[in-house]
Amino acid sequence: MNDSTFSALDRSLWCNKLISEEFDLLVIGGGITGAGIALDAVTRGLKVALVEKNDFAWGTSSRSTKLIHGGLRYLKQLEFGLVHEVGVERAIVYNNAPHVVIPEKMLLPIIEEGSLGKTLSSIGLWVYDRLANVDKDERRKMLDKEVVIGLEPLIRKDVLLGGGLYYEYRTDDARLAIETMKTAVSKGAVALNYLEVTDLIYKSNGYVGGAIVKDHLSGSVLNIKSRRVVNAAGPWVDNIRAKDKEGVIGKRLHLTKGVHIVVPFSKLPIKQSVYFDVEKDNRMCFAIPRGNITYIGTTDTFYDKNINQPIALRQDVEYILDAINYMFPAAKLNVSDIESTWAGLRPLINEEGKSPSELSRRDEIFYSDTGLISIAGGKLTGYRKMAERVLNFVFKTMHTRSTCITKELKLSGGDFEDPEDIHAFIFKVTNEAKQIGLSQELVQALVYKYGKNIDRIINKAYEFQATIKDQEACIYSAEIWYGINYEMVNNLCDFLIRRTGRLYFERPSLEKWYPYVATKMAEFLGWSEEEKQIEIENFEREYQSVMGFRKF
Ligand SMILES: Cc1cc2nc3c(=O)[nH]c(=O)nc-3n(C[C@H](O)[C@H](O)[C@H](O)COP(=O)(O)OP(=O)(O)OC[C@H]3O[C@@H](n4cnc5c(N)ncnc54)[C@H](O)[C@@H]3O)c2cc1C
Repeated sequence: MNDSTFSALDRSLWCNKLISEEFDLLVIGGGITGAGIALDAVTRGLKVALVEKNDFAWGTSSRSTKLIHGGLRYLKQLEFGLVHEVGVERAIVYNNAPHVVIPEKMLLPIIEEGSLGKTLSSIGLWVYDRLANVDKDERRKMLDKEVVIGLEPLIRKDVLLGGGLYYEYRTDDARLAIETMKTAVSKGAVALNYLEVTDLIYKSNGYVGGAIVKDHLSGSVLNIKSRRVVNAAGPWVDNIRAKDKEGVIGKRLHLTKGVHIVVPFSKLPIKQSVYFDVEKDNRMCFAIPRGNITYIGTTDTFYDKNINQPIALRQDVEYILDAINYMFPAAKLNVSDIESTWAGLRPLINEEGKSPSELSRRDEIFYSDTGLISIAGGKLTGYRKMAERVLNFVFKTMHTRSTCITKELKLSGGDFEDPEDIHAFIFKVTNEAKQIGLSQELVQALVYKYGKNIDRIINKAYEFQATIKDQEACIYSAEIWYGINYEMVNNLCDFLIRRTGRLYFERPSLEKWYPYVATKMAEFLGWSEEEKQIEIENFEREYQSVMGFRKF
């Protein structure tokens, strides 16, 4: 399998490969953790299969705050090791995929009775920079109150004491996961979505030797044989452990829910990301501007409801609205300003007596007597290091060693010698794309999704121009075509939620576009009218559910 065959049209071919061969490593779960493990494993020479029960990044990996960050607040919990590791990883992930990891200025307002005073904030940010080996010109700057007001005129002034300005990175979590997956696939891994592990297979010596999976698209059941099995199922890690003969013994997961809300940028026109204190409970929230919207979050509450369908409830969005209206009173945001939401589950490791925000974000490997390797906890930002640790462990169980090579490895679309070269690339493509009338703004948005793979989309759009007169429809069609042929897109939700983020960031415009997407998909994937209707209904359910807070 290589990236030119990571096509939904070749699915049955790859299913056949899964059942007819024996693998060195089977990865369960197609979020960022599973994708990172598959990439690390295949680049160390292992024969790798990965199965995902829904779509790639369908779980937490499309519902995070979408930051590649060092976790400033973990300093308060004295998690120096974690802050050092993820802090250093930021620059590495940026270097590997500058099209989906973008430097972002972050303002930390310091307020009266906030969680960190002026001195502590200054020391905290200083330590943060040192732990993360931040370059001199990107180190934190401490700011007077007047400077903070100049930077963010809408900010609350009566309790403001000053601020700190430092650097983090913004990402699109689901795109980072799919680019990682595509890279693994281009190196030889077999990765498929809509395959759910229903049982584990055991060898005669009692060790795990593969899995039985249900194909949710064809309805068939497949047996996959593998020398080692890694459980990277995020919030579902314990569900997979429960299928193992050993069961869930010792440490277990503790899930907490995190919600984000999306409002039009015009309602909260902040000039940079802001990491601010929540007055109510001394937690901290992010407000992040992104094109035509600003998103705000997150909450952190224990979760014991249906883990397949976390949604934003009325009380979640009210918590976030109270927090943002305290820090930006002039915005006067209310429930009717919310255009979209998302809710994700943090797969944290349980620690008795700790509140959700106090639980560590560290990852840990659980090794069962049957040989099942489970990885729990962790952060999006640290996915590469987590994968390295898992593979070191896998090789140890094989009584051999091998070295991780992903530190310097460019992800699909991110092949820029220097990450800064992306600006010259946007300029070059804008010039070339003038012939099909694409604006620089649109080219930039596409480059920050697909990186160098944009060439395939532009060439296809050029071809479609002969038959599709509307320019926006032309680009939509080329993106859908690319998604199906190069990113294993099987339906409207895959495309409009995980591959392009449109349900979160452009929801109002989808009213007009999703019927068009359905028609194009039906054409490219050969759906009958009935199949098309089913897919439309599936998408409409998701479309409604992000506004579920209006009912619940
Ligand atoms: C609200 C929130 C905000 C966050 N913000 C950030 C942030 O800004 N930066 C950061 O670094 N981290 C952040 N995190 C943490 C980060 O998002 C997670 O650590 C990471 O996404 C977890 O990825 P994962 O692959 O382990 O889990 P998931 O993404 O959930 O992937 C697990 C996958 O396993 C699949 N699966 C489950 N059961 C089966 C089965 N039986 N067969 C096959 N597949 C199965 C699921 O469908 C799922 O897709 C945040 C988390 C939350 C909840």
